[in-house]
Amino acid sequence: MLELTGLTAGYDGGTALHPLDLSVPAGSVHAVVGHNGAGKTTLVHTVAGLIRPSAGTVRLDGRDVTGLPAHRVARAGIGLVPQGRRVFAGLTVAEHLRLSYRPPRRGGPARPSEWTPARVLELLPRLGERRDNRGTDLSGGEQQMLALARALLGSPRVLLLDEPSEGLAPVLVRQVHELVTTLADEGIAVLLVSPSPARAVECARTLTVLTSGRMTLRIAGEEARTDASALHAALELT
Ligand code: ATP
Repeated sequence: MLELTGLTAGYDGGTALHPLDLSVPAGSVHAVVGHNGAGKTTLVHTVAGLIRPSAGTVRLDGRDVTGLPAHRVARAGIGLVPQGRRVFAGLTVAEHLRLSYRPPRRGGPARPSEWTPARVLELLPRLGERRDNRGTDLSGGEQQMLALARALLGSPRVLLLDEPSEGLAPVLVRQVHELVTTLADEGIAVLLVSPSPARAVECARTLTVLTSGRMTLRIAGEEARTDASALHAALELT
């Protein structure tokens, strides 16, 4: 379970994320939607330990991980799939997988499930076909799968996905959201941020709309699937 309480962050004295409360139970997807500049990446980076919050707390299964450096947040069980994928141009898929594999520590907190390179390749068989290809040789969709694979290899309890559909063809966007549902079914708590509510609505148990760094709507996925008007109004979609 990921729990944010009054989480606040910004840059150079300006506030990009106003106090936000949000929780993502294990086995569920929480989608945060908002236009460019709404504060989505700021939120994800603050949870991941890349930005120090100016106030508030981040708790992982009750443990306070606020303000820990990114590598310790990752080790605690929060995996990040960053916007733009950030795969290494010169490394092959197999090398990425080998370097990213972090078996859970013995005696450490329980993980929903343990991910090995072999298991990741079962979930993402396309990466197996491309195992000897370098980062630069991969399509956008393959890079997205690799970014997801890297995060999974830390056997996360929480997965942060920053705009995973960006630049992907519709068929791949659907595949990414199906994968997100599969991972939540495995017991992972997924926080997904996206500029578009379309696919997020389909897989999210709860959605939050951010506007200029503030929450302007929180709605159950089921309600938004039945009637998207409140969601569209908050996003000012016509
Ligand atoms: P996008 O979809 O464009 O990434 P976003 O919803 O993720 O948008 P953020 O990137 O979190 O939004 O940006 C929120 C606000 O913080 C914006 O006003 C942005 O200009 C500002 N901001 C983001 N990164 C920085 C930075 N490194 N330095 C200063 N201001 C920043």
